[in-house]
Amino acid sequence: FLGPIQQINSVIETYPKGIAGFKRYLELLETEPDVNDAPNARHVKHLNGEIRFNDVTFGYEGKDKVLQGVNLTIRAGETAALVGPSGAGKSTLCSLLPRFYDVEGGAVTIDGMDVRSMTLESLRSQIGIVQQDVFLFDGTIRENIAYGKLGASDEEIWTAARRAQLVDLIKSLPDGLDTFIGERGVKLSGGQKQRLSISRMFLKNPPILILDEATSALDTETEAAIQLALSELSQGRTTLVIAHRLATVKNADRIIVVAEQGIAEQGKHEELIAQEGVYSRLHRAQFGM
Ligand code: ATP
Repeated sequence: FLGPIQQINSVIETYPKGIAGFKRYLELLETEPDVNDAPNARHVKHLNGEIRFNDVTFGYEGKDKVLQGVNLTIRAGETAALVGPSGAGKSTLCSLLPRFYDVEGGAVTIDGMDVRSMTLESLRSQIGIVQQDVFLFDGTIRENIAYGKLGASDEEIWTAARRAQLVDLIKSLPDGLDTFIGERGVKLSGGQKQRLSISRMFLKNPPILILDEATSALDTETEAAIQLALSELSQGRTTLVIAHRLATVKNADRIIVVAEQGIAEQGKHEELIAQEGVYSRLHRAQFGM
């Protein structure tokens, strides 16, 4: 079971929206034959993470274009919060980066190299994705964390656990790292599962991160621990956050408003509020301000 899942998981840390999302992701892989290594694809070892969308056009088969002529640069190390109405194309924009789909027109580049010029394996090894629902298996905490990096040492596992705010939990468990978490991690709370998935990312250590922020409310303490872990995780990495939290948009280096086939506005929170455009309306609707 783990072998094929591990392959799928080379890029995606968790699966969208539980089982339904998992199926959708497998379907997505099945519909992926168009995405292949170019004959002379390069194996990239380390990327700095400057991302560019150059005049990008994309639509799903038989449907209207989701993105049309999108131009966007995200600097290496920058944290960009993507906001916009449901269905605007935030996830689609992100999915072009690890080449879940290829652009129809234009190009997506990282450090100036077209993503299509790299081997899929090396491209995806440089991108980490953290989504709302977490893939866990019925093993120990140690095994579940080490899933981020095969053969990780105990020291590495403890460091990842510490940075993901998991140490207190592990120390409170009867068998520590060797505690079995039950099928799909049933013995863990939602917040603990998320932190476990974040700890894997510290082990994977990719220069580029895509975070699909949870829409469901967590209790304040859990929320704070997750925010802390995520903000440490995004340090020194180019981070694209599909943002649902006011704190996230306020703390981002830049907010990118995705609407109507492309980027409607971008800037800092205060600047966008002052513009009284799409963001300010969204912000009022979402946060009641
Ligand atoms: P949300 O905030 O609701 O997650 P989003 O801004 O991330 O939305 P996308 O998920 O990128 O938006 O969807 C953009 C459009 O593309 C929507 O109209 C959606 O229905 C459509 N879409 C998304 N995924 C697929 C797919 N796999 N096949 C066909 N259409 C899709």
